[in-house]
Amino acid sequence: MTITATATDADPAPPNRYAAELRPVLQDIMSRHRERWGATKEWDALADFQRELGKAGWGAPQWPVEIGGRGLGVVDTLACDTEFARVNAPQRVAVFGTNNVGPTINTFGTDEQKVHLSAILSGDEFWCQGFSEPDAGSDLAGLRTRGEITGDGFLINGQKVWTSIGLNATHCMVLARTDPDAPKHAGISALLVPMDTPGLTRRPIRQINGEAEFAELFFEDVFVTTGALLGPLHEGWRVTMATLGFERAGVISIAGKLVDDVMKMAHSDAVAGASPSLRHRVLDVYAGARILQWMGERALANINDPVAAGTASSLIKQAFSLLSQRFAEVGADLAGMDAIAGIASEAAHRLLTSRASTIAGGTTEVMKNILGERNLGLPREPR
Ligand SMILES: Cc1cc2nc3c(=O)[nH]c(=O)nc-3n(C[C@H](O)[C@H](O)[C@H](O)COP(=O)(O)OP(=O)(O)OC[C@H]3O[C@@H](n4cnc5c(N)ncnc54)[C@H](O)[C@@H]3O)c2cc1C
Repeated sequence: MTITATATDADPAPPNRYAAELRPVLQDIMSRHRERWGATKEWDALADFQRELGKAGWGAPQWPVEIGGRGLGVVDTLACDTEFARVNAPQRVAVFGTNNVGPTINTFGTDEQKVHLSAILSGDEFWCQGFSEPDAGSDLAGLRTRGEITGDGFLINGQKVWTSIGLNATHCMVLARTDPDAPKHAGISALLVPMDTPGLTRRPIRQINGEAEFAELFFEDVFVTTGALLGPLHEGWRVTMATLGFERAGVISIAGKLVDDVMKMAHSDAVAGASPSLRHRVLDVYAGARILQWMGERALANINDPVAAGTASSLIKQAFSLLSQRFAEVGADLAGMDAIAGIASEAAHRLLTSRASTIAGGTTEVMKNILGERNLGLPREPR
């Protein structure tokens, strides 16, 4: 299937004032970006896009003004995200820093650590999250990477896996066990680690869709000073829950992109010639994405209580990830044989990639456990 609809200058001005402010800035950045990089998805091009956004003051508009953002709430951020989708902007690889690690540093970091925030905005630093391990994914608190306390710092030994942008990131937020004798949730600390620290090596993981967006990280006597500790010693679990809350809430932004993608699909040649039942499925996904977007905006815009925010994020994350898979399946059915001809087809690529959405940031089953325990009062799983 070829997606034919693209944004034009004749599109009506966005009703949101921040989106209206962003549109000409983005057009300017995009025209220079396309001239310099074309449509390549190479890391250097994607990193350069963040640098340009940072220079223009749009590195992370959702951040508070005092740390270099524009203080945008959920609704305004989503309106701006729609602008990015509208011009088919490059993937924003700084997202792990801007959406997850950056807000965590802002919440728990020392003044020295907060220096990283401006580097994230400017695209001088790209952060990844070293949480999952070969035997610790859903059961993250079972992680075994050791952060031995040496007096002047920590000596890290262990392995991480599925580290998004881990091949190119400059820094990593690493979870390590700093008290092996404490109960498993209690002996973990969060450490801020430059990726060029001696002893840290990375290997690519090739995925089913042909890309290698993940790395495995190996830590062999990697030393960081005490200044690397983010939040209190042994309280990394609390720090991480904040990071994961930020991450899950972030999917609402992707829901906005889904709305835009369905709109483009709806205008494609394939839908014009599709059977009524396939067209109904496109509409179903559109309706689902819109409802999810509105509910997410409403839920997240008014929540200050972190537990309630966590519940809302889990609901949104679960609903969105399932919907994005339905979208990919409709796209594959519209594409017909193209979809199974090979991963070069956009529909096939999307279909294969969509399988990850119910795993990333916590699987659907884990989201259900959270809802079951917190909302329905079901007995907690033994941990
Ligand atoms: C796109 C993507 C990006 C990612 N990026 C990162 C990253 O940047 N950094 C990082 O650290 N990790 C990252 N991950 C890893 C991700 O966090 C883990 O894959 C995820 O937490 C699941 O862990 P696992 O793969 O070990 O599966 P497992 O935990 O082994 O789960 C296997 C299956 O068992 C089910 N299951 C497990 N426990 C329970 C339970 N208690 N109740 C019911 N069912 C259960 C799961 O739902 C799943 O179906 C990423 C993953 C993806 C797909």
